[in-house]
Amino acid sequence: MFGKVLIANRGEIALRIQRACRELGIKNVVVHSEADRDAKYVKLADESVCIGPAPSSQSYLNVPAIISAAEVTDAEAIHPGYGFLSENADFAERIESSGFVFIGPRPETIRLMGDKVSAKDAMKTAGVPCVPGSEGALPEDPKEILRTAKAVGYPVIIKAAGGGGGRGMRVVHTEAALLNAVTMTRSEAQSFFGNPNVYMEKFLENPRHVEIQVLADSFRNAVYLGERDCSMQRRHQKIIEEAPAPGIAPRHIARIGERCAEACRRINYRGAGTFEFLYENGEFYFIEMNTRVQVEHPVTEMITGVDIVQEQIRVAAGEKLRFKQRGLEFRGHSIECRINAEDPYTFVPSPGKISLYHPPGGPGIRVDSHIYQGYTVPPHYDSMVAKVIAYGDTRDQAIRRMRIALSEMSIEGIKTNIALHQELMLDARFIEGGASIHYLEQKLAAKGELKTSG
Ligand code: ADP
Repeated sequence: MFGKVLIANRGEIALRIQRACRELGIKNVVVHSEADRDAKYVKLADESVCIGPAPSSQSYLNVPAIISAAEVTDAEAIHPGYGFLSENADFAERIESSGFVFIGPRPETIRLMGDKVSAKDAMKTAGVPCVPGSEGALPEDPKEILRTAKAVGYPVIIKAAGGGGGRGMRVVHTEAALLNAVTMTRSEAQSFFGNPNVYMEKFLENPRHVEIQVLADSFRNAVYLGERDCSMQRRHQKIIEEAPAPGIAPRHIARIGERCAEACRRINYRGAGTFEFLYENGEFYFIEMNTRVQVEHPVTEMITGVDIVQEQIRVAAGEKLRFKQRGLEFRGHSIECRINAEDPYTFVPSPGKISLYHPPGGPGIRVDSHIYQGYTVPPHYDSMVAKVIAYGDTRDQAIRRMRIALSEMSIEGIKTNIALHQELMLDARFIEGGASIHYLEQKLAAKGELKTSG
């Protein structure tokens, strides 16, 4: 096992990784920007290194500064968390060529999965069902593009091969709009992601977002840890996640989960990963793979008892997976609410000083957060400040516990979206389970109309 791990991230996930290291008896080094200097998790670290000013381009995305921090502290491995450099193949490569271990997949795997065209190709070959669409990237020939769309059937969606964060996508409903949409998405793709390649998919009108968590070691052992339903989204950003996905038969999950584990063995995947699917009319359609730990990993931890971050570290240190698929059991139900520092209705970010903080607790409640009373939420980063995770024997119990937790939780001095979560925990469609990825936006739009007409 490693003696010392450097954590190349901030906020709740830096603290989460730190906890995993401490439990494994590994010393931890936290790197931080000037804006995060006073954070409690920085103080709790065995060592900390300031890697630059507040803007992430000069700190959390500053590869040479992070590598030097690992050098001066004698860390053996680097955990990238999520976001920032976590899916940057060049970063992983630089780490390995500097003699450190990257806690994640091999750089070539990150590269393969980072290009959505090559990722889909690899998945198709591995027998994972994909959204119907173009074979690879779209060609230049307009006739060929029109022909492809006709074969796929409208509406279609044009997506950037190098896309991420919900950007570089365009839905097309008619043939008349197609070629212009392709040209525009291409130029966006070039300017956002430095890669002009785009591809086409059938646009699914009312899908759910259901994803499969996997874990694999360096010896071609791979397991799936069940699924998560992340359909409650606004602008492609997840706000509530749960496991298991309501109303999908366990044998259906087992079938798709087995495919994902098999795909991991084929591509020689290492570490934790997530296969993201759209789920519509009883069918799964692969859209992309995330080659890192995800924000919503706790709901899977709650129903499996597996500590995903510790397993990432173990696998990176060269250990074999400690369990086989048949040794894994999915028990109960877990729901996560992402608490963001933002106005619950206008969604305008609300950084600032937290004047009062009272976290919830009690049976089945877990809070993953780096905040505390007196902490100042900096304006430079993502607005998520806490994750409240509820567990119950049943979904109904998890919802009841979440309602109690949200009612206990107080955060003052900044605005948060707690009120929106409270409303959703009482929402009939949420309680029923299985709402589509459009549900939340439709609900918010309807409310907006009600407000302006009233
Ligand atoms: P990103 O990497 O930018 O998050 P994804 O490929 O994961 O891009 O897609 C993000 C979101 O866009 C999905 O969760 C879904 O809401 C929507 N989307 C993507 N592809 C399709 C599709 N073929 N049909 C319908 N919606 C889609």
